[in-house]
Amino acid sequence: MEKKNKVNLLMLSLILLAFTAQSQDLPQPRVLDPGDEWSAPSDAVILFNGGNLDKFESVTGGPAKWTGEGDHFTVNPGTGNIHTKDHFGDMQLHIEWRTPTEDIGKEGQKNGNSGIYLMGKYEVQILNSFKNETYPDGQAGAIYLQHPPMVNASRAPGEWQVYDIVFKSPVYNSDGKEKEPGRVTVFHNGVLIQNNVEIKGPTTAYNKELPENATKGPLMLQDHDNKISFRNIWLRELK
Ligand code: MG
Repeated sequence: MEKKNKVNLLMLSLILLAFTAQSQDLPQPRVLDPGDEWSAPSDAVILFNGGNLDKFESVTGGPAKWTGEGDHFTVNPGTGNIHTKDHFGDMQLHIEWRTPTEDIGKEGQKNGNSGIYLMGKYEVQILNSFKNETYPDGQAGAIYLQHPPMVNASRAPGEWQVYDIVFKSPVYNSDGKEKEPGRVTVFHNGVLIQNNVEIKGPTTAYNKELPENATKGPLMLQDHDNKISFRNIWLRELK
């Protein structure tokens, strides 16, 4: 073998060895049970899977006054927003919701409105956006008044719909100034509608009692006078 070829072979061996060593240093991913399509993964925090609303409370204090109905619960209009007792930051969130079939003779923002406020501050809009037009950054799946969804993947009123959300909370410097904005990705009924978009501060009607530079907050659900139902709510905290 020529000397040059020998050197090349030696170099190749060293590179391969380096790669092998590197991959052996990586920790093995944590093992979990993913469950089936109806159940939460084994490391999830279950916020609601039927029964009572004991993981939630009224934002103004006291127990959540919304109505539990077996495997789901429904906004009790006029009783106010509810939020989780625990606070969460970076997360993968799964939540199922349904707008009512009852015709209340209202359109736009008054038809099937609720919302999911990440950290009590950043609203992923819930609305009946099935043949119910409104401003693009106010329809279902919008980051309210910041980002319209990329497409409208809405189902009809009365049908269950799903949001799967990946949320990264903002990061702050020690002086309280924002260092990195929050980011959010949303799948609506399995369709990507928000792709890692930048959150430009709190959305309207957020919980103003929360500290400005918090990196965790409660998950808040909005009472917007419409009887939206929810079921199967879980999240995975991301480190
Ligand atoms: Mg709303």
